[in-house]
Amino acid sequence: EVTIRDLSKSFALGGRQLAVLRSLNLDISSGECLVIVGASGSGKTTLLRILAGLEKADGGAVAIDGKRIEGVGEERAVIFQEPRLLPWLTVLGNVAFGLEVRGVPKAEAEKRARFYIALVGLAEFSDAYPRQLSGGMAQRVGIARALTVQPEILLLDEPLGALDAMTKISMQEELARIWSEENVTMVMVTHDLEEAIYLADRVLILPKDKGGAARLITVDLPRPRERSESRFVRYRE
Ligand code: ATP
Repeated sequence: EVTIRDLSKSFALGGRQLAVLRSLNLDISSGECLVIVGASGSGKTTLLRILAGLEKADGGAVAIDGKRIEGVGEERAVIFQEPRLLPWLTVLGNVAFGLEVRGVPKAEAEKRARFYIALVGLAEFSDAYPRQLSGGMAQRVGIARALTVQPEILLLDEPLGALDAMTKISMQEELARIWSEENVTMVMVTHDLEEAIYLADRVLILPKDKGGAARLITVDLPRPRERSESRFVRYRE
């Protein structure tokens, strides 16, 4: 469980302080999918970066299972809009890299990497280089790379924002499947309300004006995987 207490963050902007997050309180339960929406500049990325430990809050605290986070941690993995793959490594090399830098022996790292590459449907592309992949495929590699370190919490900052509409829909289904199979807690930022409602257990809406309060909406729908229909229109004879 993630507990966020009285979290605040300001940035210096032209001689004054811009308050981005003001006394935010929130509990995220294990296995939940929380989606963060809000106008541009409302602090979505800032909140995600604080949860990731990439940004320091001014006040308040974030704890995971009661333990206050200090910087980045192995129980959290981040997926950005651009996967930023290493161009000189193959898909396998990119996905195994995170384990290798953690000291996992190469053979073991590659075995685990292959499992997650297959999970995102790219087994045939293990030996391809990033330049040979489409945007959607590259993002799948980014997802496999994050999952390979077996995080408890997956933090996603507009992971599908750069994809075309059709790829986006299939990737949303992919994320829903991975989420249910891997049993991770997901916190995701998006601009796409339909995506938010499709994936989320709860949607956090950050206020646009700085006097407003954050709102939390519970999505009263079965989880995507429990809905039988795919949103693709399929050809039927
Ligand atoms: P968008 O939807 O446009 O990505 P967002 O909701 O993710 O926006 P943030 O990126 O969190 O918003 O930024 C919130 C505010 O904080 C913005 O006004 C931005 O200018 C400011 N800000 C963010 N990072 C910094 C920084 N490192 N230095 C100064 N100001 C910053």
